[in-house]
Amino acid sequence: MARYGGIDLGGTKIQAVVVDEDHEVLGSARHPTPTEGGPADVALAMIGAMREALDGAGVGDGELTAVGVGSPGVIDDEAGTVTSARNLPDWEGTYPLAGKLGAAFGAPVGLANDVTVATNAEFELGAAKPYNSLLGVFWGTGVGGGIVLDGQVWDGRGGAGEIGHVVVKYDGRKCPCGRIGCMEAYAGRGAMETRAREKVDEGEKTILFDIMEEKGKTRLSSGIWQRALERDDKLAHHLVERAVHAIGVAVASSMNLLDVEAVVIGGGLGIRLGEPYVEKIREAMMPHLFSDHRPPDVLLASLGDLGGAVGATLLAAEKAPAHA
Ligand SMILES: [Zn+2]
Repeated sequence: MARYGGIDLGGTKIQAVVVDEDHEVLGSARHPTPTEGGPADVALAMIGAMREALDGAGVGDGELTAVGVGSPGVIDDEAGTVTSARNLPDWEGTYPLAGKLGAAFGAPVGLANDVTVATNAEFELGAAKPYNSLLGVFWGTGVGGGIVLDGQVWDGRGGAGEIGHVVVKYDGRKCPCGRIGCMEAYAGRGAMETRAREKVDEGEKTILFDIMEEKGKTRLSSGIWQRALERDDKLAHHLVERAVHAIGVAVASSMNLLDVEAVVIGGGLGIRLGEPYVEKIREAMMPHLFSDHRPPDVLLASLGDLGGAVGATLLAAEKAPAHA
C-alpha cells in the first residue's frame, strides 16, 4: 500500500500533502516559508510541514513510499539539487534538497519545477483530464505557465511555458524580470501592487491598503484583492480588469501559435477570483484569437490550493522503488 508525500514549495507558503495510490489526499499541512536564514532552514520547515501532514493522515514518518517536491529555481532532479531559487531566502547557490528530505523520511525524493508540477497535476488529475493538450496559466505574484502537447509536458530546452513574459505591449511597462511590456508587468500580483502604490502616490483613493492593514499584512494578498473587488473599490477593479486584459492578450497570442485544446487558469489570484474572472479572461482573448470560430475551452483549475502539492505526489509515484 503506497503512501506518497507531495510538497509545493512557494515563496510565501509550504504546502505538504500525503496521498494514497489514487492520489486522494489523506492529510495536509501548510507552513509559512521562512523569510530568513537559508536553504537548510527552508528544508527544515518542509520536513516540519510534511510531518504534520503525516500526523493528519495517520501515517508514520518512515512509511512514505516516496516524496515529490515542486520547487522554484533551477532543478536538477538527477543530482537532487535546487539552484537560484530567488524567491527563497539566501538561495542563490545550489542546495541538495532531495538528499536532506530523503534522509528525513527514508524515501526517494523527486524534484521538478513548481509550475510544471502544477500543470501536470491539472492535466493528470484536474480540470484538463479530458484533454490531450493544455496551456496552464498560474496567476499569482508572478504569472507562470506550463504546456502539454500530445500528452507530454513541453518544456523546450528548459525555458518553455513562460506565459507571463509573453510581450503584450512592446513599449510597455517594465516587468519584474527587467524586460519591457511582459504580460506579468500588468497581471502579476506583485506588479499590480506596485501600480496600486504608484496610483496612491498620485493621489488616487483606494481601500486596498486599508484592508491590508486590517488584516495585518504587508503585501496585497489575493484575499485582499478579492475583498476590495467585493467592496467595489474603483482602483482594484481597474487594475484587475487591466490584468485580465493582459492575460487575455497573452493567452490568445499563445493560442495562435500552439492551438491547444484547453487553457486552465490557476494560481493564488486565479483560484481566489474564480469562475467569473475565468469568463472575463475568455472574453478578453476573443478579439485576438485567429481561429475565433473554435476557441479553446478555458477552465478554472480544479485542484485548488492543493494542486501543486498533489501534483508533486505524481513525481513521488514516478520515484517509487517499484518503478525504479
Ligand atoms: Zn517579464
